[in-house]
Amino acid sequence: MGGIATIHRVLARFSYAEPRDETLVAMSRSDRNSTTVRARREPPRFRHVAMRSVEQLSPHLIRVTLAGPDLAGLIVERPAASVRLLLPSPGAPELVIPSWKGNEFLMPDGRRPAIRTFTPRRLDPETLELDLDIVIHDGGVASEWVEAAELGDPAAISGPSRGYAINRDAPAFLLAGDETAIPAISQLLEALPAQTPVQVHIEVAQPDARLALPDHPRATVEWCDLPPGASSGDALVATVRGADLSPGTQVWVAGEASAVQRIRHHLFEDRGLPRAQASVRGYWKHGRRGDADDDA
Ligand SMILES: Cc1cc2nc3c(=O)[nH]c(=O)nc-3n(C[C@H](O)[C@H](O)[C@H](O)COP(=O)(O)OP(=O)(O)OC[C@H]3O[C@@H](n4cnc5c(N)ncnc54)[C@H](O)[C@@H]3O)c2cc1C
Repeated sequence: MGGIATIHRVLARFSYAEPRDETLVAMSRSDRNSTTVRARREPPRFRHVAMRSVEQLSPHLIRVTLAGPDLAGLIVERPAASVRLLLPSPGAPELVIPSWKGNEFLMPDGRRPAIRTFTPRRLDPETLELDLDIVIHDGGVASEWVEAAELGDPAAISGPSRGYAINRDAPAFLLAGDETAIPAISQLLEALPAQTPVQVHIEVAQPDARLALPDHPRATVEWCDLPPGASSGDALVATVRGADLSPGTQVWVAGEASAVQRIRHHLFEDRGLPRAQASVRGYWKHGRRGDADDDA
């Protein structure tokens, strides 16, 4: 009984988390040794794609269009969802599909595959094309891949995650993020109700990272320059701290993990914002490869 009660309590705690495509499906606890075992549902299968075109959206953001018959049946229902992009391992010309080992994907030789998370910016079910907008930065596997990309290059896609459930009755929205959140914020601007005020705050590391966003009749957009030498997210934290949040405003934030942690603290502890009013997500973590895996 104690074990089942524990499972229910833990699952209840996890129900606060953003929906992910890696869902907690089993948890057991031995009273004797208190060992907790987490198993995750196997993510959707990888679909083979090939690079169809590349477009430079700004000096720091590249749109890659991936295409292939394997994209048939892929459905992205909500904005700000995500997909996993599997790339050939650095130095390996071939794309090898990894196996799911209960909690993570592994290559046949036991190494971790090059998998990164991106927003499915546009999915065209007719042409079977998928656009990803990828930030260019130093030392990134995906960033280097897209910079060197050649037409026909192989990759694979798994997903999507469920994305953001829009509360269409909300009186206002606040969207905030760094450059990695530009694709999701663009989708949200396309999807939010036209009559609802939306404040948008985007941190850019360089002034020329600004770009045109989709029109929304009631949106105000503030681009926040990261001062030279400042840590990623400092300008984002400052702008959210200074934002005017009218009662009931729905907040969506994504960016560097430690910055969004500070934003969480500010929203929930300093302002007392109900958790149900906010989605705050780490998209990457300074000094760590892969996404932030930080959606607590
Ligand atoms: C749900 C979700 C949606 C996302 N959507 C997008 C998207 O649409 N477009 C997008 O570009 N990213 C997006 N990201 C973030 C992206 O997954 C990470 O930035 C990822 O680390 C990029 O992979 P990489 O191979 O280029 O760098 P990695 O090999 O993972 O990282 C190498 C180094 O670069 C650092 N780094 C990683 N990202 C950045 C960055 N943006 N700026 C500066 N340094 C960085 C890391 O801390 C590490 O030290 C999303 C993440 C999540 C969780």
